[in-house]
Amino acid sequence: NIPVICIDGPTASGKGTIAAEVARRLGYGILDSGALYRIAGLAARRAGLDLDEAHEAEIATLVRELPIRFTPAQQILLGDEDIGAAIRSEAAGMDASRVSALPAVRQALLTLQWNFQTLPGLVADGRDMGTVIFPNAALKVYLLASAECRAERRYKQLISKGISANISALRADLEARDARDMSRSASPLKPAQDALLLDSSVLSIEEVVTQVLQWWQE
Ligand code: C5P
Repeated sequence: NIPVICIDGPTASGKGTIAAEVARRLGYGILDSGALYRIAGLAARRAGLDLDEAHEAEIATLVRELPIRFTPAQQILLGDEDIGAAIRSEAAGMDASRVSALPAVRQALLTLQWNFQTLPGLVADGRDMGTVIFPNAALKVYLLASAECRAERRYKQLISKGISANISALRADLEARDARDMSRSASPLKPAQDALLLDSSVLSIEEVVTQVLQWWQE
């Protein structure tokens, strides 16, 4: 039984940052499940498919055959191509949200996600880690943050990378994505019954990481 820590929550709640830091401190592996849905969206677009129910089976087949690799240096490769930057855009996030609403696509990514389990442990970040993928995980954290705070964080993140952004457009975008993620029939975004809720709006990264590690040690 490999120890798994699930970190779920809405868009830009800080899951990725927290998951990476918790994994680093514990020496655990990491599953960035959002990246898988982003890659699925990108691959479907490149194949010229509309991201809707009419193409669900085709997208799922495509996803099952994708040569996705995560390197120890944190690169995300599709075949030999480093697609890390291509999947990080807001548009790629919206596309990910579209394909992730298709049950056959979620099904196609199940085994791939389970295969991330490695010793000494795994930190899994996403929307349904605690509810669907690792229901028996020893610790499930559900990260919350106000929409205002999440938009501001996303804004700072983009600006620091030299990408121009508009804070109200970002907020509208993430609220639209949350609404879709929460209302879809397949694995809708919601905290697992046994998840511990943590509102990061007024906490620093260090404070959130400390809280998660403290729960883990309990
Ligand atoms: O976390 P990230 O922003 O990279 O996720 C992109 C999109 O992928 C989310 O908006 C959500 O629709 C979808 N997703 C999901 N289940 C996960 C992870 C992400 O449906 N476990």
